[in-house]
Amino acid sequence: MTIAMTRTQAPVTVDEDKCIAHKGCTVCVDVCPLDVLAIDLLKGKAYMKFDECWYCMPCEKDCPTGAVHVSIPYLIK
Ligand code: SF4
Ligand code: SF4
Repeated sequence: MTIAMTRTQAPVTVDEDKCIAHKGCTVCVDVCPLDVLAIDLLKGKAYMKFDECWYCMPCEKDCPTGAVHVSIPYLIK
């Protein structure tokens, strides 16, 4: 039997070089049904505020710059 692995990183990561939240984009925050994403106002970048995710994907699909990456656990791929 396989032992469950400890999660070592947030399921959703944002490439800060690509994120244009500092220009007013809030698309990923707006589309997330769980409201787990937020904009870091100091950095002007989106980030995962709460470690909870349905892997429903609109944040990754709708991001205009491709900055969002959702890591889907292999068990539900
Ligand atoms: S949708 Fe993309 S560019 Fe817009 S705030 Fe989210 S990560 Fe940044
Ligand atoms: S995959 Fe769905 S639940 Fe997870 S952060 Fe993106 S929009 Fe939110």
